[in-house]
Amino acid sequence: MLAGPRALIDHAALRHNLEVARVRAPRSRIWAVIKANAYGHGMEETARALAAADGLAVARVEEAVRLRQAGVAAPLLVLEGALSPDEIGLAFRDRLELAVHQPEQVRLLERAAPGHPLAVWLKVDTGMHRLGVAPAEASAILERLSRCSGVRQPPGLMTHLANADDPADPLSERQCERLLDLAPDWSGPLSIGNSAGILTCAASRTDWVRPGIMLYGASPIAGQSAAELGLRPAMTLTSRFIAVKRLERGDAIGYGGAWVCPEDMPVGVVGVGYGDGYPRHAPSGTPVLVGGRRAPLVGRVSMDMISVDLRGLPDARVGDPVTLWGEGLPVDEIAGWAGTISYELLCHVSARVRMDHLDGGPAPEQVSPSLG
Ligand SMILES: *Cc1c(COP(=O)(O)O)cnc(C)c1O
Repeated sequence: MLAGPRALIDHAALRHNLEVARVRAPRSRIWAVIKANAYGHGMEETARALAAADGLAVARVEEAVRLRQAGVAAPLLVLEGALSPDEIGLAFRDRLELAVHQPEQVRLLERAAPGHPLAVWLKVDTGMHRLGVAPAEASAILERLSRCSGVRQPPGLMTHLANADDPADPLSERQCERLLDLAPDWSGPLSIGNSAGILTCAASRTDWVRPGIMLYGASPIAGQSAAELGLRPAMTLTSRFIAVKRLERGDAIGYGGAWVCPEDMPVGVVGVGYGDGYPRHAPSGTPVLVGGRRAPLVGRVSMDMISVDLRGLPDARVGDPVTLWGEGLPVDEIAGWAGTISYELLCHVSARVRMDHLDGGPAPEQVSPSLG
């Protein structure tokens, strides 16, 4: 038995969640977004698990290059595009598809030696005000791209939704309209929806959609749980009790003595901490799952450990497995306790955590007895 934390990645859940995206956007092709190490799930393995996607999207050229080196042959879209002549060279070599979000990137393409032309997507800023060209500039840039021998014709048009996590916010529809307004004279493909758009904004279900977080089984929508959306958690983060003891009334637990025992009581110490990616800001009361039952974290999160109030679980023993999030304990809920979002918790699982990939095997609840 290994005592340290581990992240079990359930490929059947990844595939199931991809299918949920297909059902919600049946006329769209899907870029499965696997940037940032597939939101912490392991980029190469996740690429293989999601082979049924129409393509894979990452943020940076170096992520796409890593995928090609790992033998991934699927179409690859780089969401931030190429930012230097070197990156353009790699994009041609590895047949990457590039977002183009600023005129400098058009210049790079114009100067590149045309071999086979690259597929590019002009990113338009329809309201996010992060990356993208203003709608008023778009037609002039499309004109330039259409004369560029290094560019496969016609380029695509894409935009990114800022507030789709709030289904009541009218900005999403307006952003879609702004992109569609450019499109009447455009024969190229359109791409709008992220996870939240796919689930809440019909107009964003364009030729291509770009789901990320929903593939990992977390909810992109405020006030709606992943389970309500039919999503299954792809990552279950577990560790074990490395100590179980009785403390006395008045004993203060951990750094700063932030939590004081109100009575004589059992307390367990779990081998997981912020050095593994468990959020340091998770306050006392944040639940962990032990044998299917919840127990609250008490005191501050340390680098390698957390303490848990075991008054409700007097039979807990050293070595018993503890779930921090995943199957039975939604990562969205832990993120809420810690004042952050599931995206951050998933991305922050550190390299110290052993990651095991369950490739098409039984669902995690059926294999949990063999976790030791
Ligand atoms: C990260 C990202 C996505 C995926 O967003 P989710 O909210 O995880 O679905 C889609 N498009 C772009 C441009 C992104 O940067």
